[in-house]
Amino acid sequence: MRALVIGGGIIGASCAALLAERGAEVRVVDAGAPRFGTSLRNAGHIVVSHSIPFAAPGMVRAGIRSLITSDGAFALSSRPGRGTLPWLIGFARKCTTANVEALQPGLDLLLHRSAELISADTEIVRTKHGLWQVFTSSTERASHEAEHLRAHGVQVREVPVEELRGEPGLTQRAVAAIELVEDFGVDPEQLWMRMRARSQARGAIWEDGVELDLRDQDADVVVVAAGAWSPATVRSLGVDLPIRAAKGYSVSIPGIEHMPTRPMLLMDQRTALNPLGDRLRLSARYEITGPDDRAIVAHRIAALIERAREVVDIPRDVADVQPWTGVRPASIDGAPYIGFLPQRSATPVLVATGHGMIGTALAAGTADLVTRLAFGDDVDEREARLSPARLLA
Ligand SMILES: Cc1cc2nc3c(=O)[nH]c(=O)nc-3n(C[C@H](O)[C@H](O)[C@H](O)COP(=O)(O)OP(=O)(O)OC[C@H]3O[C@@H](n4cnc5c(N)ncnc54)[C@H](O)[C@@H]3O)c2cc1C
Repeated sequence: MRALVIGGGIIGASCAALLAERGAEVRVVDAGAPRFGTSLRNAGHIVVSHSIPFAAPGMVRAGIRSLITSDGAFALSSRPGRGTLPWLIGFARKCTTANVEALQPGLDLLLHRSAELISADTEIVRTKHGLWQVFTSSTERASHEAEHLRAHGVQVREVPVEELRGEPGLTQRAVAAIELVEDFGVDPEQLWMRMRARSQARGAIWEDGVELDLRDQDADVVVVAAGAWSPATVRSLGVDLPIRAAKGYSVSIPGIEHMPTRPMLLMDQRTALNPLGDRLRLSARYEITGPDDRAIVAHRIAALIERAREVVDIPRDVADVQPWTGVRPASIDGAPYIGFLPQRSATPVLVATGHGMIGTALAAGTADLVTRLAFGDDVDEREARLSPARLLA
């Protein structure tokens, strides 16, 4: 089996590793900078708990509230690109219980498989402790969130106040926390490097700065893992993949005296946090924009740090915070498209894209599914529902 993987982010790298380990002859091509890099400096949360697709009841109201808030978590850039309005309308229509019921079982399966595959690889460094959702507004909000997550089958533990107070680096403003027991943190760049190295150890060839025409490829299968650029990549096949770019920011702060021991979601600040060695990574924002918009807006960086400071002890005079942006590939129904496209070229084309907020968490599970599809194995009906065929239904 000769597999050509288009895109060398975390999805492409993971697919390359698992395909090569199954015995495929793998070639990975990446268009290179300035597109490359979304998978490297994100929050690194492996959120097994996040199986509810992003398009779910309540999201439209939350999105509108955020749009009218200054520096809200969800935003529209001044140049969101053509096709954004129909995408937004389509997304709003998908915020239904039926969408959650259709897609959550497959996401749950893939997230658990990912966590298993990551944990089985002892070269991948992961946090020892589970992820906390931390609240500053009220303890009731924490209890309500715990109840909501339990109703969706998520394993949740309410954190006793004395344990919360014992966690290094948290300020007195943190009033409650719940632990998502199965979730953990990784350094996303280390995960990516490990997956690439695993593929190379099995002979995969990586080429940078290469863009190919999908209609004319000499391979047994093409896997498109081109992130936010996937729609442009498959357009020559006459396929219209509804994906928008959702830009997010991160900073990696040195000099934290009392480093938290675990990944966290600061729920009232809409900010993710992850202790990575001697730096604290913070990330936030979901701004619909064009895929090539990686601009770093200085006041957003300042606001990100200031919001986190409400909950975590961050020194006032921090320098060298390493600001960064990446663009999430956001699908129209909040779940990735993983499966074959209708065949319009000599070589069958599989897509593995649209992972939105949880591409790092879903990467290994996605690669496992892609490998089984490429080799013609039967797949579970819940996984089959993640196929792009659902766009035609
Ligand atoms: C601020 C922020 C925080 C995040 N936090 C988390 C988190 O905590 N946990 C989590 O699970 N996820 C998180 N994410 C989401 C995660 O980063 C993405 O879902 C994931 O990186 C998408 O990976 P990808 O491989 O699909 O895309 P990418 O990493 O964008 O890779 C796509 C690759 O395709 C290449 N390419 C594009 N077009 C072509 C072409 N025509 N030919 C060849 N190559 C091409 C590009 O150069 C690029 O390297 C976060 C994202 C952001 C922005």
